[in-house]
Amino acid sequence: MTSCLEWLECSRCGAAVSLEAAGVCACGGILLARYRLDEAGRTMTRASIASRGPTMWRYAEVLPGSDDPVTLGEGMTPLLRLRFIERELGAQAIWLKDEALEPTGSFKARGMAPAITMARNAGARRVALPSAGNAGSAAAAYAALAGLAVDLFLPADTPEPFFLEAAAFGARVHRIAGDIGACGRAMRAHPDAGRWTDLSTFREPYRCEGKKTLGYEIAEQLGWTLPDAIVYPAGGGTGLVGMWKAFAEMESLGLVPKGPRPRMIAVQAEGCAPIAGAFASGAAEPAAVTAPFTYACGLRVPAPLAGSLVLAAVHASNGCAIAVSDREMARGQVDLARGEGVFACPEGGATLAAARALLAAGLLLPSERIVLFNTATGLKVPSIPGLSTS
Ligand SMILES: *Cc1c(COP(=O)(O)O)cnc(C)c1O
Ligand SMILES: [Zn+2]
Repeated sequence: MTSCLEWLECSRCGAAVSLEAAGVCACGGILLARYRLDEAGRTMTRASIASRGPTMWRYAEVLPGSDDPVTLGEGMTPLLRLRFIERELGAQAIWLKDEALEPTGSFKARGMAPAITMARNAGARRVALPSAGNAGSAAAAYAALAGLAVDLFLPADTPEPFFLEAAAFGARVHRIAGDIGACGRAMRAHPDAGRWTDLSTFREPYRCEGKKTLGYEIAEQLGWTLPDAIVYPAGGGTGLVGMWKAFAEMESLGLVPKGPRPRMIAVQAEGCAPIAGAFASGAAEPAAVTAPFTYACGLRVPAPLAGSLVLAAVHASNGCAIAVSDREMARGQVDLARGEGVFACPEGGATLAAARALLAAGLLLPSERIVLFNTATGLKVPSIPGLSTS
């Protein structure tokens, strides 16, 4: 299947940038991939998609590198109806997109498959990124498959399973004292900076493209309708920005009717909530958080580069951004496990905690069709606050 990728567009100054440029715009703005959607729409019909293989590459026309992807079969994960939790919360329809079933156990696989594909296609031999854990694991796996060298910059207090996994894949791991922001700075100050392709969140345009397939899949799995609300655990915000982009593309492609888009709800941790803080104060740009704290590593992103893009999608969709405590996330993890049979990561528990709080506050309505996300397996995080194992 042929990709209809055509150019990159700066989300800040609107400049059209050639595909060879990569990185960010000269103005510092984030680049978003654009496609020949007229051409894509000719082959990308509901019926033709239904006849394709059960991976995210079934949306080939609107993905980069789909002619010859580096793939481990990512995508087409279950969209589980949460019957027990619906009853408990008094809501009519809640689903969980369960990304625990992805290669390397997290939805970071969706982004890394096209990012590594495009790096390889551009002739890269070596890639690097800072990561809170899951992005590093996914990058290491796809880099191994593609025969690329990979350097990972991880906070020293990242749970050990991530180091084990990275070592197994043959990644070169740099343990950094500090959070993911410090990891990014250490990477850019490293003597080898410039000798590798930078795969940092939103410093290359293709991870967001892979993650947008969450939006295509949810629509397809709901019979090409959109839910009323999407409750997403936002760290860097790639998936939220990607899904928001996907909804616009799907409308242009004629896959979903023109009409209201889902309300985008960004969930953060109380100890690291730059986006929720900006939402509460009405700021268009999040302020960096100092001394971020939460056991949900994926949410420990104190200064998200795309914070203003996340906020723009939240506002345009009439959504909101909310912070939940680690205790509430932990309860969410346990409820998903005991009620629904899903061993979710803390970030997945956070989306349930947010839905509970928003339903109680009347900011989500019981009649709304709500989609939660379990973004990774619970197995790589060593403990759940308040849960005894003995
Ligand atoms: C990376 C990560 C997130 C946050 O994803 P973004 O797209 O960066 O907002 C959420 N949950 C888990 C488990 C993650 O690894
Ligand atoms: Zn620009």
